[in-house]
Amino acid sequence: VFANISQAPEDPILGVTVAYNKDSSPHKLNLGVGAYRTEEGKPLVLDVVRRAEKLLVSDISLKKEYLPITGLADFNKSSAKLILGSDSPAIQENRVATVQCLSGTGSLRVGAEFLKKHYNQHTIYIPSPTWGNHPKIFMMAGLSVKTYRYYDPATRGLDFEGLQQDLSAATSGSIVLLHACAHNPTGVDPTLDQWEHIRKLMRSKGLLPFFDSAYQGFASGSLDADAQSVRMFVADGGECLAAQSYAKNMGLYGERIGALSIVLTSADVARKVESQLKLVIRPMYSSPPIHGASIVATILNDREMYHDWTVELKAMADRIISMRKQLYDAMCAKGTPGDWSHIIKQIGMFTFTGLNPEQVAFMTSEYHVYMTSDGRISMAGLSSSKVTHLSDAMHAAVTR
Ligand code: PMP
Repeated sequence: VFANISQAPEDPILGVTVAYNKDSSPHKLNLGVGAYRTEEGKPLVLDVVRRAEKLLVSDISLKKEYLPITGLADFNKSSAKLILGSDSPAIQENRVATVQCLSGTGSLRVGAEFLKKHYNQHTIYIPSPTWGNHPKIFMMAGLSVKTYRYYDPATRGLDFEGLQQDLSAATSGSIVLLHACAHNPTGVDPTLDQWEHIRKLMRSKGLLPFFDSAYQGFASGSLDADAQSVRMFVADGGECLAAQSYAKNMGLYGERIGALSIVLTSADVARKVESQLKLVIRPMYSSPPIHGASIVATILNDREMYHDWTVELKAMADRIISMRKQLYDAMCAKGTPGDWSHIIKQIGMFTFTGLNPEQVAFMTSEYHVYMTSDGRISMAGLSSSKVTHLSDAMHAAVTR
């Protein structure tokens, strides 16, 4: 019955790794997927994660029973504190409904399904450009997806005017997806001042903020600084949603561990929302997996481990910042035409180079450098020994 099924295209981001794996060149470089690599180009399991796992393995009281539909309670509580701040009035007043979900993607999807079922507006505005999976997640949940201007190719910075115009023109009550920090793919974030303007504008129009926080701690190295945008919206007492991922900041990619928090106006509403989230989750996957949640809860609830985590996280963020500096210096030293200062101005895992699809294709075929066709490179995939190769490739692509 499926004989006539057509071949689906590769995912545009994950497909880069598929192509990379097929390349036999010793010089090949994968800057496509957003996963941290060490200076030696190896995946990293954080030391604090190994320690938490050892503790868990040695705990004979630990069971492999089902978690509740909403996940591990300790994990949920600590996750809400991590994103909203431990002194958040919303937490103190029990106005937050938090559920453990399948990493950032699952948290976004559960949030979207909840909104489709219980919110009176079904239009979500996402930034242009955004992470490629965003439109698909929201469309599959039955929301109608529109975009707002975000990135200005001319300045390789924020199109703040365009953003304000588009959000001003949005139907009142619409949902707006905001990257909490380290916008993917552009690496361009609003300043705190601009966030404040966005907040006022959105609140005045009754637009509902849905934050995607996939890089807390990765942008600046500080967990608090990278959550400022979300906390500003929570401080005004209004509602918002936040999807958190521990893929990058704890290196728990394959554990699929994340959380969805919905900040509400009263404890009573939060209880009711949580009860409805259970009805969303139960038919999707019944309940979430236990291992990743136990690792995160162990680290977040132990003072020493928490501290050690922040040190390891800062080291990852600092290595990425150092890669930016090294690549920028290499481009300047070569005298490659154009202004490359956006490499050091943009933040987070990615640099939006400004290279066009033809230049990207050239770099892949001639230099075995792999990246998404929009010119996004993962700085986390770069190491000091590869900077010259990358800058050679970029120089050749720009000057050919
Ligand atoms: N949002 C953004 C902006 C992302 O970049 C990512 C990961 N690439 C995610 C969400 C979700 O990732 P995960 O499901 O692996 O947590």
